[in-house]
Amino acid sequence: MRRAGAWAGRGLAVLGLVAVVWSVWQANLWALLAAAGGFLAATGLALAPLVRVWLAERPATRPSDFAHTIDLLRRAHGALVGWVVGLEEGDVEVTVRDDVSRDTRRRGAAIVQLASVDGRAHVAREPEGTYVAVGDFPFGAGVLLAQPDAPPHNTAAAAEELRRLVASLRLAQLHEPAEQVGQLVAKQLAAIASGAKTLDGIAKAGVELAQQFSQRGAAIVLHGAGPAAGTARVVAVSTAGDGRLAGLVLPSDAPVMRALQSAVPVVTRGAEDIFGSALPDRRRQDRAGTAYPVFDGHFVVGALVLTGPQLPPGTPVAEQIQRLVAELGSRLAAARAVHEAEQRAVSDPLTGLNNLREFERRLALHGGPNAPLATLIYADLDHFKALNDSLGHAAGDSALRHVAAILQAAIRDKDLVARIGGEEFAVWMPHTPLESGLEVAERIRRSVEGTVWRWDGQPYALALSCGVAGYPDSVRDITNLRSAADAALYRAKQGGRNRVEKAVAAG
Ligand code: GH3
Ligand code: MG
Ligand code: MG
Repeated sequence: MRRAGAWAGRGLAVLGLVAVVWSVWQANLWALLAAAGGFLAATGLALAPLVRVWLAERPATRPSDFAHTIDLLRRAHGALVGWVVGLEEGDVEVTVRDDVSRDTRRRGAAIVQLASVDGRAHVAREPEGTYVAVGDFPFGAGVLLAQPDAPPHNTAAAAEELRRLVASLRLAQLHEPAEQVGQLVAKQLAAIASGAKTLDGIAKAGVELAQQFSQRGAAIVLHGAGPAAGTARVVAVSTAGDGRLAGLVLPSDAPVMRALQSAVPVVTRGAEDIFGSALPDRRRQDRAGTAYPVFDGHFVVGALVLTGPQLPPGTPVAEQIQRLVAELGSRLAAARAVHEAEQRAVSDPLTGLNNLREFERRLALHGGPNAPLATLIYADLDHFKALNDSLGHAAGDSALRHVAAILQAAIRDKDLVARIGGEEFAVWMPHTPLESGLEVAERIRRSVEGTVWRWDGQPYALALSCGVAGYPDSVRDITNLRSAADAALYRAKQGGRNRVEKAVAAG
């Protein structure tokens, strides 16, 4: 585009000069034309930079980019059709299927139009699929999900991404001078995050905006803190990115880690995967990428990763990404600080497990006279004082972390493991019968006994005792569950340790 401006100017200049030469040579009435030619030559020479400035002042993200964005969104959700309405250059419809009927397409477009006017989210479950549309006058966006009866979490996920797209449509219509690209990016980020101050909300907005600017998959990686210091985790992946990366802790050989350590962007070449070797079966074209370190002041807090070949430097897109990286730094750092404070309030700093307060809060949620069944395991390390006394406190801490990892690995998502005392742990299993709780406790006991823990290179044997109580099997009143588990644990200790005891059924 810039080049077109330069050539137009040069062309006019040449035309003007030709006219001047021709008129002088003819030396007749063409004198008038000579003057005009001179004028054209002058404006032509001046026009090249003028056109260049005019083009540069146009916002770098134009509505035409959104045809691609809605198509990415459509593919990410396995949708049959995608629509965007309200663009200056006309409505957009994207589909790859020839067999989507004209009626279906008309109906979808109508629902999106409706959403663009009333500003509400529309979900219509029809035999041909499920329409999801959102709007913010005059803009609307929608998709037709392939399932006729798409479950609510699918429609909600599609609606949320459509809403972000609509927010960015509104901002793309703002025509701001190039010098203010930074401000524009900040506004776009704020709008797409739609007020979210959470780490998750800001990271998700960041990757979607990066994807819109670059038309590539994007991800945000953050440095770990507390017990996770030294590691880095993928906290958000854009719709066009590889969803399997979400939550992944990156291996130390990942090029992204080099960007975090060196504080300069890292570009991969060849078959090397920017995210390292943790997901070996990634598609080849997704592996290449660029990791841009994200700073809070002088500190690297993480990285924005774009997949695909490197962006040509100096282009408007490269500049937008640069601005986005600058915007993200302080916001991600602030959101992470809040997130960590929340985490600290509920977790034990040594092991990263839940703390006593969080354990008690979760237990209380389950209370009441009609509480559903539940099982509680208390576990206490055997002869831990002796280990501490002989090897030292640091060794004791290391053993506690070792056991915490075993406990964490032994449970399912909806269960909770907490460190409730020095070397005492609780496993809370709501909606779980006593028999299953006993199996889990036995599995934990065996795992602690059978997994080697090393200190100074030497292997040491660890063991723990468990007391297990279930509601309503062991106690009639759920508030007695803790003391029942405690009594069972005491019997396990009395009975010789390294064993699991079931609570005696009582009142
Ligand atoms: P038992 O088999 O009867 O449970 O014996 P025990 O030695 O484990 O029991 P006791 O409760 O007497 O000792 C617990 C010890 O755990 C006391 C202390 O040395 C150690 N301990 C408690 N909290 C921590 C901690 O945070 N870090 C370390 N390293 N040790 C701890
Ligand atoms: Mg103990
Ligand atoms: Mg103890």
